[in-house]
Amino acid sequence: MLDVASLKVRYGAIEAVRGLDLSVGKGEIVALLGANGAGKSSTLAAISGLAHWSGEIVFDGQSLQGHSPEAITRAGIGLVPEGRRIFAGLTVSENLLLGGAVHAPPVELRRRAARMQERFPILAERRHQKAGLMSGGEQQMLAIARALMAEPRLLLMDEPSLGLAPQVVEAVFDLIASLRDEGITILLVEQNVPMSLDIADHALVLAQGQISVRGTTKEVAESQAVQGAYLGH
Ligand code: ATP
Repeated sequence: MLDVASLKVRYGAIEAVRGLDLSVGKGEIVALLGANGAGKSSTLAAISGLAHWSGEIVFDGQSLQGHSPEAITRAGIGLVPEGRRIFAGLTVSENLLLGGAVHAPPVELRRRAARMQERFPILAERRHQKAGLMSGGEQQMLAIARALMAEPRLLLMDEPSLGLAPQVVEAVFDLIASLRDEGITILLVEQNVPMSLDIADHALVLAQGQISVRGTTKEVAESQAVQGAYLGH
């Protein structure tokens, strides 16, 4: 579904991504792991059209070169950004309606927002409240629901469990598994390596802008680099 080849992202003199290749098959969860600053967010930013890049990004057989973020959302790629980036001063409902505002008419948007509130009862409960007043876990659910409003076929998730309490982390991973079961393909950037390896089909470890380890989750979990650096063995 997604094929990335020789991807490079640079910010002035900084080469954040230095020739990355990755593929995500339809219906898979692929985990993209790596230390802070390895280039994970920059990779997602490139795929979403939010960073300048060179190389190849092909989604469903179509090159994304030169496509705007709006066109990429319309093509079926959604992003749950790092740090959630909800609109803290707007209500939960307003956040949902804005997230899906890319291409659907208002009636359809309201229908989708209602569906999201059925799926996430906490969002229904809080729909008239300012989103910034919710807990971190609730804000993360809102960020995910907002991305789902555009009905993506591929969801890019940037550290969705970061900073959340352990039970909430479990709930986020359960949600990711159920999204996959519903047919959404997922590229998951995470710092929770054990849980990511548990849930994903394939995994890649990014180090200084390049892939250092790749394979099935079993292969990656057994690799020395991951055992030493992330699993504490
Ligand atoms: P983190 O988990 O800390 O977000 P990451 O693996 O997602 O790490 P990136 O955020 O992609 O890594 O950052 C890769 C490199 O690019 C880092 O050296 C970072 O400082 C740099 N960088 C990221 N965004 C920018 C920017 N907008 N301008 C300049 N440099 C940037």
